[in-house]
Amino acid sequence: MKLNYSRRSFFQKSGAVGIGSFLSPYTNAQADEPLWLRPGENGFSSACVPFNTEIRTKPGLIARCHSPASVASAVKYAGENRLPVAVRSGGHSFVGHSINADGVVLDLSGMNQQILSSTGEIYTAGPGVKLKNAYDFLLPQGHLLPAGSCGGVGLGGLTLGGGYGLFARQYGLTCDHLEGLTVVTGKGEVVDSRDDPELLWACRGGGNGNFGVAVSMRFRTQVAPQGLGAVRYTASPSSESEMLNLMKEWFSIAAELPDPIFSALVMNHKQVSVLMTSPHSPGGPAFSRASEALRSLGMRTKGASHVALAKALPRYYGRPNPLPFRNFSGGYYRGFDDIAPAGAGIIHEIRSTPGSIFQVNTLGGAITRGPDSAYPHREFPFLGEAQTYWKPGEYAQREALLESSERVRLAIAGAGITRHYRNYPTLKFENWRSDYYGEGYRRLQQIKARIDPDNVIRHRQSVTV
Ligand SMILES: Cc1cc2nc3c(=O)[nH]c(=O)nc-3n(C[C@H](O)[C@H](O)[C@H](O)COP(=O)(O)OP(=O)(O)OC[C@H]3O[C@@H](n4cnc5c(N)ncnc54)[C@H](O)[C@@H]3O)c2cc1C
Repeated sequence: MKLNYSRRSFFQKSGAVGIGSFLSPYTNAQADEPLWLRPGENGFSSACVPFNTEIRTKPGLIARCHSPASVASAVKYAGENRLPVAVRSGGHSFVGHSINADGVVLDLSGMNQQILSSTGEIYTAGPGVKLKNAYDFLLPQGHLLPAGSCGGVGLGGLTLGGGYGLFARQYGLTCDHLEGLTVVTGKGEVVDSRDDPELLWACRGGGNGNFGVAVSMRFRTQVAPQGLGAVRYTASPSSESEMLNLMKEWFSIAAELPDPIFSALVMNHKQVSVLMTSPHSPGGPAFSRASEALRSLGMRTKGASHVALAKALPRYYGRPNPLPFRNFSGGYYRGFDDIAPAGAGIIHEIRSTPGSIFQVNTLGGAITRGPDSAYPHREFPFLGEAQTYWKPGEYAQREALLESSERVRLAIAGAGITRHYRNYPTLKFENWRSDYYGEGYRRLQQIKARIDPDNVIRHRQSVTV
């Protein structure tokens, strides 16, 4: 295969060498060509397994990339051979947007280099860095990149679609911390956002597999808080109406929380749990007020904790190994009234189908003050998520859960909820363009037309011209 970008030409084009403020995580030891894996070859089958094992798609070729030049080479090869390109960093896409059938999959898991600038203010990372590796790298150095909670999620996919977690209300989304990045376009060109600022706008929430491959990202960091305070309250309401009332009351309590406190409401079969976390002590006045309100609703806790961040975060990392599931965005809300018309239907489903889970997370705070970007949902302080997991091979359970989760989706759609998180996709969202991107879709189309006019980089919900 023709070598399109030598290491030297990449560094010249991106300005990666010789500019003090810019650190490149790539070294001369990294190959300019991808390692190609074909069906039947050693490692091909295992490389095809995404985090959601419901997805059985197999590509025609996997290109394992370790440098921007190798990504550029693979994209050019695909373009010349009219093959679609799917981009995979951490492989956690709910619906398999990072794998395609009979095309080329770029496996970026090996592009996991990390550098912290000497002042600690700028963190440069490859897209294949997993969240737990980012935390493990930054926390001992006293810094934090606010990101998601699940340890195995890729920094690439998370950032390019938004990225929220326990610290988003206090500091903003992961994509709000993105200060610049290097992208290989659908034409196989290496471009830096300093030369094309529109790329930065787009990749803050609208960059997932749409028109380019993020190969190196530069983030502003936060000084890491010392610890994380957490408290979990639970209750087992005896009826659907009691559960609905608890949900309503939680929305009122959560709406009053100050920015540092994150809260999630999880309704799992007949149990309701409320998590509250904060970098501050759980004994503070806001925490205490919210706790008292939850107790007055009959919720109980086993006590609060406040431990070092590096010890606290792994508690939220979730399962490391792939599993079958169906999750999707339950929509953005301004408050309980938005989801109220669907509330009874959702609660009926989760109470009658064990394994059907509905969660609402608090956003708002610093997210509302974030930069102008392709992430269009800043004014919404709540995000819902429908989840179902089942045991591999349990076909009856799977069928029941899939049917139930579909009824949950229909209840949400019936309530007129039309805004959804790009990182929580389902192929069932008919109006996904506006659901995920709002008015920004047109602007994303212009970028697509400019840097990937032949639609080389694509998946079933990617931006088209
Ligand atoms: C268990 C679990 C927990 C999660 N927890 C959170 C959470 O706490 N907060 C949150 O915000 N989200 C969370 N998510 C959603 C998560 O943000 C998305 O699934 C995200 O897209 C995954 O990124 P990835 O790199 O792992 O996935 P991938 O499957 O590799 O990619 C996902 C999408 O991004 C695109 N993409 C990936 N890398 C690149 C790149 N380098 N350049 C261009 N496009 C790229 C792909 O084409 C695909 O469309 C969670 C998901 C799961 C499965």
